[in-house]
Amino acid sequence: MNCYIHHEKSAVGICKSCGRGLCQDCVVEVGEGISCAGPCEEKVRIINRMVEGNARVLSTSNQSMRTAALFILILGIAFLIFGAWQYSIESDFLATFLMVFGLVFLGYGVVRLRKSAQYPVADSTDSKS
Ligand SMILES: [Zn+2]
Ligand SMILES: [Zn+2]
Repeated sequence: MNCYIHHEKSAVGICKSCGRGLCQDCVVEVGEGISCAGPCEEKVRIINRMVEGNARVLSTSNQSMRTAALFILILGIAFLIFGAWQYSIESDFLATFLMVFGLVFLGYGVVRLRKSAQYPVADSTDSKS
């Protein structure tokens, strides 16, 4: 492939935005990637920013998903303890109700936590522990 401006020169790279061949003189380095000089420069910058933003959003939503799962898990344990305590006083409907709910929450929390563990978290504090 040759440069789209200088047809006699061979391309050293391809613009990330328009996909045209670029020679050494036409190539513009824009962060992660190259573009041709002109409007493509700004476009590639926007593309890079979008990719960066998406990665950040993904890791944050995963983080909050994990927090929510942990919260449900703790809620389940609290319900179980409360149910067991109620059961020791009186084995009535409330005690059964609380314990069943506790188990459901516990199971749901474990499933959610396992699901969130499948995705890597781009968090420095998380990976160090
Ligand atoms: Zn271009
Ligand atoms: Zn050129």
